[in-house]
Amino acid sequence: MSKDNESSFKDDLRDIWPSEGMCCEVVGCTGPILKTHAKYTAHWKLKHVTQINVFSCPHKCKQKYAEKWKMNRHLKLTHKYSSEMVSAIEIPVSKEENMHYVCPGNVLYRKVSKVNTEARDAARKARQDYIREQNLPVRDQPSGDLQVCRGHYVDFNNNLTESKVVKRW
Ligand SMILES: [Zn+2]
Ligand SMILES: [Zn+2]
Repeated sequence: MSKDNESSFKDDLRDIWPSEGMCCEVVGCTGPILKTHAKYTAHWKLKHVTQINVFSCPHKCKQKYAEKWKMNRHLKLTHKYSSEMVSAIEIPVSKEENMHYVCPGNVLYRKVSKVNTEARDAARKARQDYIREQNLPVRDQPSGDLQVCRGHYVDFNNNLTESKVVKRW
């Protein structure tokens, strides 16, 4: 197996981030549901990597924060920065040992699936087109993405990149 294949194989083992959000699965992680993948990623960077970025306040107070938004808030509250000043300044950042590191064990960082989003959007578009073209009554709202109406389904090709509506009775 080539190195590329190997890494994509490993990547395939990663679970997909559910669109409705979820709690971190790592043992020892309790906490609220992380609603977006961005929040999940921020959490993962804070807790499950051995080194973290630390932002240091460029002023005398020498405050340090692991999260950029906290530094931004600090600059505004303590140093009376405006939003423009905050976005203009370059905050010194350094790598430090993560004091809050929790070993993720065999839990892998979840990825978002672009393919599924494309497939879902393609399915939605195919359904809308089909309903319009066939002048189907929209009386029964299809419950899922995949059923267009009774007996009509959206089918995908093998790569989940294209879809079409088929009849299946
Ligand atoms: Zn966690
Ligand atoms: Zn400061």
